[in-house]
Amino acid sequence: MHALITGGAGFIGSHLTEHLVEQGWTVTALDDLSTGSAENLDPVRRMPGGAGVELVRGSVTDSPLVHRLADGADVIFHLAAAVGVLTIQQQTLHSMRTNLAGTETVMEAAQAHGSTVLFTSTSEVYGKNTTIGLREDDDRVMGSPLLSRWSYAEAKAIDETLVQQYHLHHGVPSVIVRLFNTTGPRQAGRYGMVVPRFVRQALTGEPLTVYGTGQQTRCFGHVHDMVPMIATLAQTPAALGSVYNIGNPEQISITGLAERVIARTGSSSDITYVDYQSAYGPGYEDMERRVPDCTRLTELTGFRPRHDLDDIIDDVAAHISGRRSVPADRVPA
Ligand code: UDP
Repeated sequence: MHALITGGAGFIGSHLTEHLVEQGWTVTALDDLSTGSAENLDPVRRMPGGAGVELVRGSVTDSPLVHRLADGADVIFHLAAAVGVLTIQQQTLHSMRTNLAGTETVMEAAQAHGSTVLFTSTSEVYGKNTTIGLREDDDRVMGSPLLSRWSYAEAKAIDETLVQQYHLHHGVPSVIVRLFNTTGPRQAGRYGMVVPRFVRQALTGEPLTVYGTGQQTRCFGHVHDMVPMIATLAQTPAALGSVYNIGNPEQISITGLAERVIARTGSSSDITYVDYQSAYGPGYEDMERRVPDCTRLTELTGFRPRHDLDDIIDDVAAHISGRRSVPADRVPA
């Protein structure tokens, strides 16, 4: 089997490449290296079968390039996106274009070459819906267009609809996954993601910067749990034409996360509180919580997360301090 992974040199894309190579796939990674990096694929290249992983530097909005790379791809895993709250706040139009034009380009190419598409959407599309245990058919509640903060969610929501319409009207086999906060080794903190930021701050003895009150909660999933599900869904005919949440429903407040990171890493860092405006610029509206219900996925695949938050903190800390990251198949004690 051959996969084209858009965003293949990114955090999740590189773990997906690794997983597929382990399963005997050949992989072409398309990445503009704006937030991803060629080094993310270095560990994959050293694996048996990894030498043939091809990294193509280019944009997912480059239609001739995407068409050329889609030729021969059994599955296109479409992960490319401008990621991170800071990127979205600072490069809003670029981020929207990448999402909207990129997804349409991928769908056209998949139609032309008979590829299956797995589209990675985000729990952001639930927007202001704070139901505990969000299900896939729950409403996507968007905020004001005057706040650039919602631009990512809106673009991804339109992408989902676009993917489904290509499935229904052009016969492109496709599946949509909504990833809840996914984290782990290789995730970069510089675009805003809280776990690598807190772990780095803890390891260097700096104060951990909690934004807002810290009472907001998130559910963090280990990339090693999420990636096999992405691969499985793309190969499960019964999953096509549907949407799946992928996440870990265990909630923690952001202050609780800061305390846990400090304790787990044995750090002497303090916690400091920063208002949203200073962190993200004017007009930021945070989500109070975002908790997945993964019943649909579990019923289809038997999915249960194997890694808890302590595993995540340990693995991110090991990666940041340059120690070898723990293999994906490690079973937690
Ligand atoms: N956050 C924080 N300090 C940081 C970075 C993020 O307190 O240095 C908060 C952020 O405001 C949000 C949560 O952590 O409430 C998760 O942020 P992230 O950007 O990782 O994910 P998302 O907001 O997309 O869920």
